[in-house]
Amino acid sequence: MKSAESISIKITGLSLFLVFTFNACGQDRNVKHQTMTTNSVSKPENPYYSNTDTSRLNLSDAEWKKILSDDVYEVSRHAATERPFTGKYWNADLKGTYYCAACGRKLFRSEAKFASTCGWPSFFEQDDSNSTRLKPDNSLGMVRTEVLCGRCGGHLGHIFDDGPPPTGKRYCMNSIAMDFIPDNK
Ligand SMILES: [Zn+2]
Repeated sequence: MKSAESISIKITGLSLFLVFTFNACGQDRNVKHQTMTTNSVSKPENPYYSNTDTSRLNLSDAEWKKILSDDVYEVSRHAATERPFTGKYWNADLKGTYYCAACGRKLFRSEAKFASTCGWPSFFEQDDSNSTRLKPDNSLGMVRTEVLCGRCGGHLGHIFDDGPPPTGKRYCMNSIAMDFIPDNK
């Protein structure tokens, strides 16, 4: 009798473990799922994402963690920096528009992008005056200016004064913090 009970408990334990594992994998897949159409990016797991809404977002860190993939979360919410020459856009020259990967805000046009040797996608101007916000950043023993998304406040990169004309600015961005939608042909 004892033996039968013991087996039953073991089987129940195994079932729970399998259910839990299955759910965990399912959530993981959902978080990373994203599809791209011609004119907008669809991120079903992120209800705040929009390529047209410019109203400010103010979400808690816990909410961002739930709706962003791990790599976007680390850059956008914790100001991580991707390694140079590794991002998907540093060397890209297609015509189109760059959007915030966390909230979908329109950030840059490809016409403002220039070939930079720094290994990160670089732009000399933002799309409109509210696309990004700037914030002093004295971390890591350096005096820099951080570039944040104008809508969600997510970290995008830094801005420097060594860019080309007409602005002389260099918005040095993380590829992972942006989505790109090519122009219609
Ligand atoms: Zn954003």
